[in-house]
Amino acid sequence: MSQDGEITKPGRMRAQPDVPFLDVNALTEFVICPRAGVIAHEAGQDESVNDLGPVKLDYMPEYDLHEIEHALQELKGQLWLWGIGAVAALLLTGVATYTVHPESLWIGLAVVAGIVYKMMRLFSRAWVLAGRQWACLHAEPKEPDPMATEVQRVNWWELMKAGFRSIKYPEALTDEDRMLSGRPWRVLRRGSLRIPVFRELRGEAKLDRHHYVTMAAYCHLLQVREGGDTRYGIILFGHSYEGVAVPNSPATKAAFHKELVEAWAAVRKAREDASFPPAPRGAQCEHCPLGWPRVHRLGETEHATRLEMLPVFPGYGGDGRPYHSFCGDRFHWIPPHERAKEKELKYALIRMSERPRSLDSWSEESW
Ligand code: SF4
Repeated sequence: MSQDGEITKPGRMRAQPDVPFLDVNALTEFVICPRAGVIAHEAGQDESVNDLGPVKLDYMPEYDLHEIEHALQELKGQLWLWGIGAVAALLLTGVATYTVHPESLWIGLAVVAGIVYKMMRLFSRAWVLAGRQWACLHAEPKEPDPMATEVQRVNWWELMKAGFRSIKYPEALTDEDRMLSGRPWRVLRRGSLRIPVFRELRGEAKLDRHHYVTMAAYCHLLQVREGGDTRYGIILFGHSYEGVAVPNSPATKAAFHKELVEAWAAVRKAREDASFPPAPRGAQCEHCPLGWPRVHRLGETEHATRLEMLPVFPGYGGDGRPYHSFCGDRFHWIPPHERAKEKELKYALIRMSERPRSLDSWSEESW
């Protein structure tokens, strides 16, 4: 019997053939703001973008003991080599100073100082990694009560010590019936347990509706694809090892299904009727990165979806320069971002025949 009980009676949640394929990231954005959801869906943003982005040269593993120990070994090897280099540079400096020219001393000391600086940087990285290794090795095994109905605090290393295996999936999980796909940051496995883990890197360490929906969506995908036991999901906050286990309760599943249906409808309407979902009330746009206005530079700052380049919808600032944002270009408005207010952005004068429909409903009150 399905864990979904009455919420997922066969056929009830099966998507209609014409609904768009949504990823969990877009669904999450829908819950936060429907316009952000449309943009995420059309831009094809993947939730694993952090993993797929360009590899940073100063990258240091954080959540995998094997990777941490491997990186630590490499750093130790480099420290040895640079240490030998420092000793050799000192000896050469001494020899050159006494046999070639006394001024060689300063050149030699400059080289040694450069090597020491490099070693200090390597040492500070090794220190951080050693701290992570220590935290992992000294953690006590502990895991959430799978039958609990409350949110429980968890620690990443305690979960690892409790015998979970952390798996990074190479591909997204999909449910063709509901046209949903998504790849959690990691999946914890032990026996039949399948625990999705994702990280919340923005905002404060507090739970909101979109966290519950995202967690239920990942649990759903794991259950559909692997038949796993998905009693809860884990959210880690920021770059820490602390997080919470959120029960995959009937209420959470119901919220997920409701939001999924609404997201389908919003995307379909945006695509077929070119209608815009409503902007959120309140101060949500003030700090939204999608509404952040930047100066328009032709060929550089335009925004694109998977299908097209978006025409620029500029607002002119008090300084006379044209500004635009992703949300503004997509929905033909000037989002009330705090920077838009600071720059005193106003609509450009345009012919009525070119006037986007959304402008008709705009008023000063929306600020
Ligand atoms: S700027 Fe406002 S309307 Fe646009 S995506 Fe952000 S929160 Fe939503």
